[in-house]
Amino acid sequence: MTTLSIPVTPFRGDADLPAQADVVVIGGGIVGVTTALELAERGISVVLCEKGVIAGEQSSRNWGWTRQMGRDERELPLCMHSVEMWSQMNARIGRETGWRRTGICYLSYNQRDLRGWQAWEQIGRRHGLDARMLSAAEIADKLPGQNGGMLGVLHTASDGRAEPWIAVPAMAEAARDKGAAIVTGCAVRAVETSAGRISGVVTERGAVRCQTVVVAGGIWSRLFLCNMGLDFPQLKLIGPVACVDGVEGLTDMPVGAGDFAYRKRLDGGFTVAVRNKNLAPLTPDHFRLLTEFLPTFLTSWRELSLRVNGSFVQDLLRRRSWQPDQTTPFEAVRVMDPAPYPGFARQALRNLTRAFPGFAKAKLRREWAGVMDATPDAIPVISPVHTVPGLHVASGFSGHGFGIGPGAGQLMADLITGDPTRVDPKVFDISRLRPAYGAQH
Ligand SMILES: Cc1cc2nc3c(=O)[nH]c(=O)nc-3n(C[C@H](O)[C@H](O)[C@H](O)COP(=O)(O)OP(=O)(O)OC[C@H]3O[C@@H](n4cnc5c(N)ncnc54)[C@H](O)[C@@H]3O)c2cc1C
Repeated sequence: MTTLSIPVTPFRGDADLPAQADVVVIGGGIVGVTTALELAERGISVVLCEKGVIAGEQSSRNWGWTRQMGRDERELPLCMHSVEMWSQMNARIGRETGWRRTGICYLSYNQRDLRGWQAWEQIGRRHGLDARMLSAAEIADKLPGQNGGMLGVLHTASDGRAEPWIAVPAMAEAARDKGAAIVTGCAVRAVETSAGRISGVVTERGAVRCQTVVVAGGIWSRLFLCNMGLDFPQLKLIGPVACVDGVEGLTDMPVGAGDFAYRKRLDGGFTVAVRNKNLAPLTPDHFRLLTEFLPTFLTSWRELSLRVNGSFVQDLLRRRSWQPDQTTPFEAVRVMDPAPYPGFARQALRNLTRAFPGFAKAKLRREWAGVMDATPDAIPVISPVHTVPGLHVASGFSGHGFGIGPGAGQLMADLITGDPTRVDPKVFDISRLRPAYGAQH
């Protein structure tokens, strides 16, 4: 495998692919890994297949914020439950994930942002979350090194952060300790059905018989399900990120504002980004899904940079259906590792230095980008596909999946085993986007 732009902790996959399991999980990002961990802890036999490396895609490339503040109210109970799970994760898996309860702050430099965060404070309050606007004295105390000029700051003390490229491989090791089989370099090509229900999967390394499949394929879930004749509404966004050293005088708390975000890392460096500047390379799916995504495009056009580049032709030429004995697009792209746009790190540091002058001395260590998967309502699908018994989807995390990963994996496991769920699963059911795949059919 070629060298990746991110130093994700190496995870050695199992040598052999089991011939049979209760559940096959497709995808070794945080959602697939936490699902496998939960199932293995409950004594269920589970095989996780990852086409590339564990956490090679979004799950190691993200900012590492485990944030409740600012989330969609429907998603908030799962976010709050997940942060509680993060707080116990190191002890649960007996390994370091980098999770610390640091709090998170959002700074407002204009009336629009201020009104937005003040309104969100009320949402948090309704759910018993400790998010609140800080007084001037508290701002000075919690945000040393800032340049002033902000109109208000929303702070949530119970929020935290973890180290993505350490945490997910550590959770995968724990899942294996508990009995999960984890096979890397193993693309799942197709599912098999018998009398309309799941009976197995076909991978590039052979078949696995199973009654239950979880598609946790991140940006690839739409394509995988397309080959089954299912239309999962999902689009891609590219988020560039950088890691810098040499910045002093700031606290451990992640901080965001209209045009920047930073998080102090466990190794003393900072993960930085230009907030609200994701790239949306136009693809044929933008036209296929235009009507569903239009409301989101209209409300968040300021945060998106629509681009026409090679992605359009690549996606157009990519096969959308294949037979199980044919090589698939998943084998052609083992790890999606896009380049950040030119000048990105300079722009991030310029924005940050305006607010926190200490970033003027920052030295660029590394830059990379990750491709996120978004649904039309920016809420994930964590759900059975009711029309294909045994098939489940946990995908479409819309830029929030690292923080809610632990709760998402637990919810997926609860739905499979029939255990009581800790949050209302209807919020995440696929029928809200695709009524035809709902329980009533
Ligand atoms: C730049 C950036 C910043 C972000 N910041 C944050 C943040 O601060 N906080 C937060 O909560 N979230 C954040 N996110 C979002 C978060 O990273 C994702 O929502 C989350 O990692 C999604 O996890 P996943 O397991 O669904 O997908 P992925 O991590 O993408 O994993 C899916 C895996 O499935 C594999 N796969 C796909 N198809 C197949 C197949 N057929 N066979 C075998 N394997 C397959 C892929 O190779 C991949 O490894 C950010 C994302 C990005 C890109």
